[in-house]
Amino acid sequence: MQHTGGTSSIKGAVRPAYTSGLDTDVRFVKGVGERLAKIMGRLGITDARGLLCHYPSRHEDRTELRRISMLRPGDTASVRGQVLAADTVRTPKSQMLLTKVAIGDDSGVVSLVWFNQWYLKNRFLKLLGKDIVAYGTAQFGGKGLEITNPEWEELGDTSDPLSSNRIVPVYPLTEGLFQGTLRRILWGALDKFLPDIQDVLPADVLDKRDLIDAACAVKNIHFPESQDALKEARYRLVYEEFFLLQLALALRKQNITASRPGIAFKVTPECTDAFYKSLPFELTDAQKKVIRAIEQDMGRPTSMNRLLQGDVGSGKTVVAVAAMMVAVANGYQAAMMAPTEILAEQHYMVLQKMLAPLGIEVELLKGKITAAAKKKVCQRIASGEVKIVLGTHAIIQEGVEFNRLGLVVIDEQHRFGVLQRAALREKGLNPDVLVMTATPIPRTLALTVYGDLDLSVIDELPPGRKPVRTHWKTGDMRGGVYGAARKLLMEGRQAYVVCPLIEESEKLSARAATELADQLAAEVFPDFNLAVLHGQMKSAEKEDVMRRFRDGGVQVLVSTTVIEVGIDVPNACVMLIEDAERFGLAQLHQLRGRVGRGEHQSYCVLMADPKTDEGRKRMQVMAGTNNGFEIAEEDLLIRGPGEFYGTRQSGLPSLRIANILRDVDILDVAREDAFSLVKLDPNLSLPEHARLKAEVLRRFADFELAVVS
Ligand code: ADP
Ligand code: MG
Repeated sequence: MQHTGGTSSIKGAVRPAYTSGLDTDVRFVKGVGERLAKIMGRLGITDARGLLCHYPSRHEDRTELRRISMLRPGDTASVRGQVLAADTVRTPKSQMLLTKVAIGDDSGVVSLVWFNQWYLKNRFLKLLGKDIVAYGTAQFGGKGLEITNPEWEELGDTSDPLSSNRIVPVYPLTEGLFQGTLRRILWGALDKFLPDIQDVLPADVLDKRDLIDAACAVKNIHFPESQDALKEARYRLVYEEFFLLQLALALRKQNITASRPGIAFKVTPECTDAFYKSLPFELTDAQKKVIRAIEQDMGRPTSMNRLLQGDVGSGKTVVAVAAMMVAVANGYQAAMMAPTEILAEQHYMVLQKMLAPLGIEVELLKGKITAAAKKKVCQRIASGEVKIVLGTHAIIQEGVEFNRLGLVVIDEQHRFGVLQRAALREKGLNPDVLVMTATPIPRTLALTVYGDLDLSVIDELPPGRKPVRTHWKTGDMRGGVYGAARKLLMEGRQAYVVCPLIEESEKLSARAATELADQLAAEVFPDFNLAVLHGQMKSAEKEDVMRRFRDGGVQVLVSTTVIEVGIDVPNACVMLIEDAERFGLAQLHQLRGRVGRGEHQSYCVLMADPKTDEGRKRMQVMAGTNNGFEIAEEDLLIRGPGEFYGTRQSGLPSLRIANILRDVDILDVAREDAFSLVKLDPNLSLPEHARLKAEVLRRFADFELAVVS
């Protein structure tokens, strides 16, 4: 069902030209017309609302009018003067056409200079004796001071100068649209549509956070009266953006947790005691802490929705199993889903080893098995005989019927994209859900993208781990790298070699891996056992390779990025990544996480000859830190929130003005306010929230919001 606010148009209806209000087609906004409307469409501007929300990317302070005599070379300033003369000249050497316009105030004269804009001469001749304002950078020219390519504006009696003598908005543009034009259009549009802007924020929120009203904020984000006014306007709009997003997340969370009763598990020490006793190690404090949070969630009658973040190797699997033990002890089943079959198989082996001694039946549900075998597994799951089911997300997509599913663990969430709860709900299930990710998402991003989940972090690695040493090597150092790797292999260690990323095709990647493996086997490691692993192999083959690598029969595993997540072979202590500059930071960090899991010193070698600054920067970051959260923050800085957010998002709208890096403080208060508002008025049914509700529904129509409109 489509929710729209009171002012929205009916789809398909022809809008009469005289319609006013924020839905006015941008064509009918003064100064736009058909041609510009098309161009503005490329910026996503289709109506007056979109136009007013086309915020400046920055502002230039041109408030001060400089007396011409006070202008020094290198100064960027606004000057005001009378047009004294206009002429065109050819430069002697390059034969370029220069338009030179002299303007003067009572203190002196300055030349304005343009290249190859012959038509300007006549325009200025018409302005002789009139005042203009020009803005630009002064330099020494042939005969005194010049301002080259200034922005300028005629000073009529009535029109307020938009491009000078004020704090001037600088807009994102597209081909065919100019700053001056857009400024004039927005100036007029503000005049006309400002009265149509109604504040969606409740009065008590405005009051509590000392926010200026919406119309004032929109006015001042475009044409601020002062730097303070600009700051207040920006604060207000950023707050509003975060507030509405967090409100949508709060409503979705409420939808998930409150719409259907969850399971109140009985959490006692007996649930997990035997399991803990069987472990060859002590849990870290961080693991204990998150298990406590999970157990509290599970004990409540609402369903759990927790995101567990923990760097690679921090020991998330054990935490997941502890949660499963609670479910099983309560007579429920648990499912754990991994993004790849390889990983699901690995989980299966690990869990079977842990749980078989405790008499708990674990089953792996694979994609490619015979129908008869599948039927048998499904029967064992349906009967409840099997307590723990492992597999890919096919578990919930295909027709697997559980006897009593109480807990779902989703490992490595980032590979799944959207949370799979909707699929679960379709099956009439409302289990507790634990989402685990090793992609260290900066906290701010977690709060925006996964804001409807509770967040736990394992911020400590198991003791005794030696930090992986990372080296960035260029192609000419390859010989030395291979020599060092050989030495470690002789000592009994194992190595991964990751071949260059070929994003276009799995097939090409597979071939590249095979070729690299052949070449390494022939020329570099003839005396060791090599194997290749890629996504095009049958799952039995993959399984076989992984088993041989785990058992030590294979010393060098040449692979595509299929080994990226979760693989755990403690004796492997070399990770050699070819063409490392082609990988993103998050991916490199995941790959590096495959080593450093045992007692031996591990090494990650980045083979890279980056051609871009960004590529070099990424190599430096990797060589500089092992901390996944630092890397994630750097990633966000290098790539910009837009892209980071965009690629990871699960259908969330992009942020127009808020910056998740700079505006954390605003995010925090907006989130707090939004969540407490939903607690107070869970259906946004209070009259003072009517506009707010309409706006949230308009913006987040495709969210699963728990609001009946
Ligand atoms: P990840 O968080 O990357 O999924 P895993 O759960 O695979 O990490 O754990 C990595 C390795 O650390 C495994 O071999 C696991 O047995 C081991 N491990 C987990 N917790 C501890 C601990 N508290 N002490 C020692 N080793 C641990
Ligand atoms: Mg894991």
